[in-house]
Amino acid sequence: MIDVRNISKTFIVPHEVRALVDVSNTVKAGEVVVVIGPSGSGKSTFIRCLNHLEVPDEGHIFIDGVDILDPKTDINKVRTEVGMVFQSFNLFPHKTVLENVTLAQRVVRKRGKEEALDRAMILLKKVGIQDKANVYPDQLSGGQQQRVAIARALAMDPKIMLFDEPTSALDPEMIGEVLDVMKTLAREGMTMVVVTHEMGFAREVADRVIFMDHGAVVEEGTPEHFFRNPTHDRTKLFLSQIL
Ligand code: ADP
Ligand code: MG
Repeated sequence: MIDVRNISKTFIVPHEVRALVDVSNTVKAGEVVVVIGPSGSGKSTFIRCLNHLEVPDEGHIFIDGVDILDPKTDINKVRTEVGMVFQSFNLFPHKTVLENVTLAQRVVRKRGKEEALDRAMILLKKVGIQDKANVYPDQLSGGQQQRVAIARALAMDPKIMLFDEPTSALDPEMIGEVLDVMKTLAREGMTMVVVTHEMGFAREVADRVIFMDHGAVVEEGTPEHFFRNPTHDRTKLFLSQIL
């Protein structure tokens, strides 16, 4: 489903940083991959490359067989197939929950009003927030807003869901409700790449864990491998700091 070959990315401004250095990885359909690593290690840059929010300087990325770095590829189509959820929920503040979840369905997927509404209500129910359909985002808690953001991404019927620290901005008591929605998605077979510091989630849900440092994949393996006998000193150090 995702095939990343030798991508590199250097930012020049404000100062030169090699954010990704020759990263390769493949993710199979239905696989859940958790990306961990210290701040600044390139996790966000990596995940953002997967839906063309960042463009690598070198390398290739295929999403379900489509070369997304080919100038002829329709990036908007790629983005409908690859949903993304950010740390900051990014809901449209002047639209209701329901409007947030129907807008792109109507504009991008060209669905009729009824169809979009039906789909939105199914998804709001799925994330446990159907009773808030007609309120505005600022009337919701952070956890509720993030669940709406997940519903909004799912409304495009994506083949892949990317999550970049989806619970990092939440109060502790709200982390569980968002992780529960993500666990359900994983169980249903969604292909997912998740950047998170929630090691319980990684242990329980990940098929594979990737540890990044200084723009490179240092180590990857099953959660058992990772949490029981990591090989690299940098992995051990990182885990000792966060566990
Ligand atoms: P992480 O998500 O692991 O914290 P990032 O991918 O955000 O790491 O960042 C990797 C490196 O690239 C960091 O040094 C960061 O400062 C730099 N970086 C990320 N995005 C940009 C950008 N848009 N412009 C300049 N530098 C950036
Ligand atoms: Mg990040």
